[in-house]
Amino acid sequence: MGEITKDDQLNGNGLSEERRRFIKAMGLFGLTLGTASIAGGMTDLAEASMFPPMQGKLDFDETVHTTCGICMIRCPMKVYKKGGKAVFLEGNPADPFNKGNLCPKGKAALGFMNNPDRLLYPMKRTNPEEKGFGVNPGWARISWEEAYDTIVKKILKATDNGKHGERFALFSHGSYGWCKRLLSSLGSPNMVSHYDTCFSTYFVARKALIGGNLWCNLEGVKYILSFGWDQPDRSKNHPTNQTIEAISNGAKVACFNPYQGTLGAKATEWIPIKPGTDLAVALAMINYIISKNRFDKKFVKNKTNFYQHEKEIRKHFARYTPKWAEKISEVSASTIVKIAKDFSDPKNWPALVPNHKRDGAGGPNYANSYQMAHATIVLNALVGAVDRDGGKATMAFGWSPKGKLKFVQNPPKGVKGLIKEKGSIDGKHKFPLVRDLITDRGIFFNVAQRILDKDPYELKMAIFRRYGILSFPNPKKIAKALSTLDFVVFMDSMPKDIMWFADLVLPEKMFLESDFVSYRKFVTPGYKLVFSGNKVNKPVGEQKGWTGVLMELGKRLDKKFGTKYFKLKGGKWVTSKADKEAMLKTINMTFSDLKKAKNGVWKKKAPYKSKPKYKTPSGKIEIFGNRFKKHGYDPLPSWMEKAVKPDKKYPFYMLIRRLPGLKHSAPLTNDNPYSLDAFPEHYVSINTSSAKKLRIKEGDMVKVKSKLGAIKLKARLTERIRPDCLMVLHNYGHTVPSLSFNKGPSDGYLIPDRPANAPKGKKDWSAGAWMCEVCLSIRKI
Ligand code: SF4
Repeated sequence: MGEITKDDQLNGNGLSEERRRFIKAMGLFGLTLGTASIAGGMTDLAEASMFPPMQGKLDFDETVHTTCGICMIRCPMKVYKKGGKAVFLEGNPADPFNKGNLCPKGKAALGFMNNPDRLLYPMKRTNPEEKGFGVNPGWARISWEEAYDTIVKKILKATDNGKHGERFALFSHGSYGWCKRLLSSLGSPNMVSHYDTCFSTYFVARKALIGGNLWCNLEGVKYILSFGWDQPDRSKNHPTNQTIEAISNGAKVACFNPYQGTLGAKATEWIPIKPGTDLAVALAMINYIISKNRFDKKFVKNKTNFYQHEKEIRKHFARYTPKWAEKISEVSASTIVKIAKDFSDPKNWPALVPNHKRDGAGGPNYANSYQMAHATIVLNALVGAVDRDGGKATMAFGWSPKGKLKFVQNPPKGVKGLIKEKGSIDGKHKFPLVRDLITDRGIFFNVAQRILDKDPYELKMAIFRRYGILSFPNPKKIAKALSTLDFVVFMDSMPKDIMWFADLVLPEKMFLESDFVSYRKFVTPGYKLVFSGNKVNKPVGEQKGWTGVLMELGKRLDKKFGTKYFKLKGGKWVTSKADKEAMLKTINMTFSDLKKAKNGVWKKKAPYKSKPKYKTPSGKIEIFGNRFKKHGYDPLPSWMEKAVKPDKKYPFYMLIRRLPGLKHSAPLTNDNPYSLDAFPEHYVSINTSSAKKLRIKEGDMVKVKSKLGAIKLKARLTERIRPDCLMVLHNYGHTVPSLSFNKGPSDGYLIPDRPANAPKGKKDWSAGAWMCEVCLSIRKI
């Protein structure tokens, strides 16, 4: 597909030179390349972490300041060009927090820009007879005009000219505000994203108990209590830098994790806990801290609702003794008491239980993770580590410039109202707290079955942006569900598995090809930070940005329906530029001002202020969850077993590792020659002693099986994992021809979709996908 050849792209745009520099930098910082070195090379914080700015000479004639668009950390970066070609990039030291460091994903970004397999033009399917894995869709290039025209016609057909907006869905990663506007203009409640597989437990817990989303700030932390949280193993820049700094300054780390990981390797104590039992340990620690009155009394009195429910709270936790937790978790009662003592010792404050998303026991990995998400908020509240000012380690509210555009007309009902009225194809209407607190995010665990069952109605058309089949649990079922839709649109920068089932494909720009405004939503104590995103190169084909596509579709639908939901007061149609300018207006800037900002960074001193009142029923941080009680859930975190346990047939717990250089929703990382050099193929980690019993040797091909399916891959032997666990990797198994094709199977084929109704007794208010509720067998083949 295209006029730009592989050689043009690889050589003509300087990729080879940048690749050479990237590999050299990886060598410098300990990321030795090649399969055999990965597990060993990742054991040190320094190794798994950051690429500091380049030392030495670089031949360039232009510098462009932009911002990494791969993950939400948003690290500013400098791209060096020579003769108009990007030859190297590095972090921008003007960022006072990341200090010029980049993680391996951001560092590899140039490797993607010139990728020979990128989607270059809109395309339509010409093989309408059959859809399926490996069946040639007969893609034919079309213009953007034809693509927009076709999509609008198909939306009108699927929704019966807008009478049944619910027959249309957006499966989108990003631009949630614009997605919601488009959907509500059509009367569709179906905003579906992957929150249940990643964030929902923490997001719902924080919004229900604290009234907003909080980010983890580890600045000045003296004690890190981690229940599976290991951001350094993902190399997320900001928390990793803070963790490295804290450990260098003598912070203690207690790390509960069945796999040692990067944090465990540097921890004061690594406790290889039985998977899915962290909740028991956390409850026992809460018991100890409350019964011994070792909490921050001033904070607890002023900021939480503890004393309003003291009797009930003390009675509730009294049953969870360290002895009781020992039997469940295989962690000795004395270890639980010691760590609870250390954590609640004011000498070790600020102390924090950090959490982010799927990392850890409180992420939506287990059936009891929602209880664990509540328990971690209680632990943090007891040591005063929630929304505390003074720039000390805390779970804190972030900041963002919130621009407001004024439209001629607003849709009569928002997505939340439409879900209440019609129900949602992903089942959000069954989870009132998800519906009300994280309305614009979605549920993947059951959506395929709902599409197949037409529950609560028939879905006829969907647009997928940056989601592939492998994003969903039970990928084969989502493929089956997609085959039943009348029309599927796919937008991304690289080919992905959904293309086997798509009817139309839209090519997307990458961040190095865009002008945009970026800001640090993660907590940066003392500063508000906005970064400029400046175009480094023109797109290599006809790619466009997702927000602009949503706006164009909205405009065309407005014209069909005679509505003005995408028309601004003053008469102009909304554009991405207007959106950027509105955002910058809140800090009294224009985009051209931001471009001129010194080093591409706007920063303003803004000492953190904690809130006097929270958006909760009591106006306080709620240890006793009134919202949970109102909906019939436990108001206090309670013990609950994980759902799936090992048996004779499947004797191993499944763990999933997400590698520091690959990100599942970003083809920039998994279809990147640099990243694939470092993380070339999928393997399963098994404890050396377990492998010996099964006569499995390093590098042997093995078959790993769950109740859902089986995958074949190489074995890696390690002492750093419990003998009753197997650890697979996320992000492999791509089925479309591209760089990431044939690098080993997907972990998704092992993970079942969750039934619509949770097993009896497991009232998960967060609609978590329970991604690790899987047990496995393994045998040599
Ligand atoms: S942490 Fe890595 S991927 Fe995320 S924005 Fe920073 S450099 Fe990019």
